[in-house]
Amino acid sequence: MSLKDSEVTVLGAGVAGLAVARALALRGAEVTVLEQAEAIREVGAGLQISPNGAAVLRALGLGDALEAASMRAQAVELRNGVGGDLVLKLDLARLRPGQGYHLMHRADLIDLLAQGAREAGVQIRLLQKIEAVDLGGPRPRLVTAQGAEYAPNLLIGADGLHSLVRAELNGPAQPFFTNQVAWRTVIPATPGEPVVAEVHMGEGRHLVSYPMRGGTVRNIVAVEERKRWVQEGWNLRDDPVDLRLAFAGFNGRVRHWLEQVPDVWLWGLFRHPVAHTWYRGHAAILGDAAHPTLPFLAQGANMALEDAWVLAECLARHSNIKGGLADYQARRVPRCCRVVQAANNNAWAYHLRSPIREIAHLGLRLGSRLLPGPTLRRFDWLYGYDVTAAS
Ligand SMILES: Cc1cc2nc3c(=O)[nH]c(=O)nc-3n(C[C@H](O)[C@H](O)[C@H](O)COP(=O)(O)OP(=O)(O)OC[C@H]3O[C@@H](n4cnc5c(N)ncnc54)[C@H](O)[C@@H]3O)c2cc1C
Repeated sequence: MSLKDSEVTVLGAGVAGLAVARALALRGAEVTVLEQAEAIREVGAGLQISPNGAAVLRALGLGDALEAASMRAQAVELRNGVGGDLVLKLDLARLRPGQGYHLMHRADLIDLLAQGAREAGVQIRLLQKIEAVDLGGPRPRLVTAQGAEYAPNLLIGADGLHSLVRAELNGPAQPFFTNQVAWRTVIPATPGEPVVAEVHMGEGRHLVSYPMRGGTVRNIVAVEERKRWVQEGWNLRDDPVDLRLAFAGFNGRVRHWLEQVPDVWLWGLFRHPVAHTWYRGHAAILGDAAHPTLPFLAQGANMALEDAWVLAECLARHSNIKGGLADYQARRVPRCCRVVQAANNNAWAYHLRSPIREIAHLGLRLGSRLLPGPTLRRFDWLYGYDVTAAS
């Protein structure tokens, strides 16, 4: 189907929405993005763009912007949280010199995508909170909080975790609390430290940290197992003292970081099934709207970028919308299910308790020392996948 001059409305100006908007506009579509916020702005937190996501940004012509806004990770280090000793080091710079593992601020990714979308001719309309979505008629129908109506020819739901479009396609979701909560924060840092993503692992908790913005700030995400329920969302503030107490038994490097935490956000980690139905008629979903994932593999935004590329490509390749959307769902579901499952498994591995923990760490130490290549090759299915080359 030629996308030239076809009208597309994208709901949501997050990673998924802005990426698919640019992808479609570059293929000739007239794209409007509707966003509830009053400005395109992002929470203060970091993001890892792995080679599979970077491939999409490059194919969208945003490779230089990505390089300018991010730092390439030289290595990933898994450390014992209490003692701080190294359990495993994946030397990315040596083992995967051609691939970029980019560490960046979420706001910088959103900025470069928004600019990329606008440059491709996309209209971004802010303050458009959609309150109702109806997919029952010949065209999708959207109603805003102010009562305005939209009836787009093609609706793409990129409206995130609590997607209205997903609910209209699949009915209400039934997420469950994983008994894990996560804090996220950003602290000031001194440039010059090695560009390493560090994972400090302890019993029932772990903490991930890496530098970003030229090393001037450091991102911290800390996860703790607990029975008490915490709401799912990004806007719940917590007292930095709670975070310090939770990691008081960790090594000095971690404690030093946490001493500098000015403010912190807490959210409950919930498990959601991958959506069963990704499209109907002239409407489809992508990104977190289709497959919310736990943060333990840092793949939510990367999958959103992959989705965006495939959706635009499938629509362009097929003679009608229905064929394009069916192909899109068929191509994306197996991959997204595999990534979501792998992320589910990772928290368990980080939080092992004695004595299994010592045995597992010994195995990891030996494995990475004797066979660093194979250790990294276990992830080739994930990071080595270039959706812009596979068709
Ligand atoms: C702490 C944390 C760390 C993470 N780290 C990584 C990482 O390192 N790497 C990675 O790949 N992923 C990471 N992720 C996941 C990643 O951030 C998400 O998967 C990704 O942002 C999803 O993008 P999205 O566009 O689908 O949804 P969102 O970013 O949620 O965007 C949805 C947009 O839709 C708008 N919207 C929603 N409803 C409406 C409505 N009714 N009307 C109008 N507008 C609406 C919202 O305002 C928002 O702008 C992390 C997530 C968390 C929580």
